[in-house]
Amino acid sequence: YDLRTEDLKDLQELGQGNGGSVKKVEHVPTKTIMAKKIVLIDAKPSVRKQILRELHIMHDCHSKYIISFYGAFLADPNICICMEYADKGSLDAIYKKIGAIDIDVVAQVALAVLEGLTYLYDVHRIIHRDIKPSNILFNSKGEIKICDFGVSGELINSIADTFVGTSTYMSPERIQGAQYTVKSDVWSMGISLIELALGRFPFSESTSDDEDSDYEGTLSPARPGSLSLSGLPPARPKGSKTAKKDKRKSKGVSLQGGGMTMSILELLQHIVNEPAPRLTPEGRFPKEAEDFIDSCLLKDPDARKTPKDLLKHPWIDMARSSTVNLEDWASTF
Ligand code: ATP
Ligand code: MG
Repeated sequence: YDLRTEDLKDLQELGQGNGGSVKKVEHVPTKTIMAKKIVLIDAKPSVRKQILRELHIMHDCHSKYIISFYGAFLADPNICICMEYADKGSLDAIYKKIGAIDIDVVAQVALAVLEGLTYLYDVHRIIHRDIKPSNILFNSKGEIKICDFGVSGELINSIADTFVGTSTYMSPERIQGAQYTVKSDVWSMGISLIELALGRFPFSESTSDDEDSDYEGTLSPARPGSLSLSGLPPARPKGSKTAKKDKRKSKGVSLQGGGMTMSILELLQHIVNEPAPRLTPEGRFPKEAEDFIDSCLLKDPDARKTPKDLLKHPWIDMARSSTVNLEDWASTF
């Protein structure tokens, strides 16, 4: 595809992330439906061009577990990235719409994410760096694919300082400043899988089901410089009614769920210092699933397995021989 702005017709707003916005568009000359991500980059022209060059690697990423790349171009002051459109959207939007996702479907998510991560790393030496439900996409053919992986070091540099929105899926070692490895992605996957299976972000003290409906388990975007102690809202007491009703309007950096409010620093400290979350209550899920999640969430990265090793886990064997039909499941919502 030779992509240019004037050939892309906006069809629908798909969502806003911390780094930009995503629209469903039609590439008019070829009638191809695409998702166009617009990323605002505050960088010199030379850096922008470098980012474009680095994004080119995505042309060589071909896997059924990876969202295809159609191309990227500069549209000052933005970078536009055009990719395969997933008509059922991301898994965060899906569980927020239909509630906790059946564990047999979650097993298929685990299988797809592990295959995708293994492909990226084994073939291209790419570490994803941003595994979370909003970066796992689903379509009506029943395919599960990952997107938004860190191919461009310059792109990562250009947006890393500005946003803290992804911190919640961050592994303890990353929070403590260690290098990214494929094992950090495994941690993020483990957190994401619990979130899907429980229908809520796991770093929340709530266990009662009626709290789930209006739960918004994401960090609000922090404006540049807003991650300072003085900028943090006071933590609300557990069980406070106002915590739930309060809609985050990009002001604070608070995490809310089930009546609990945690500032981002408290959350990061919690991830580093407290035991990792688990698939609970015990006995509700297959023991293979519990064990799989436990091994994703080993706090010591040396003890944690790689995506490739985890592909041999019994729960993944179960997923491979499962009869669950994702195309049928997709048609239910
Ligand atoms: P963050 O900015 O913290 O990474 P995010 O992943 O939600 O959060 P974006 O990557 O900008 O932010 O995506 C915004 C939303 O657009 C996603 O939540 C998803 O629902 C939707 N989206 C993104 N890419 C696609 C795609 N290829 N097909 C369909 N929907 C998509
Ligand atoms: Mg995304």
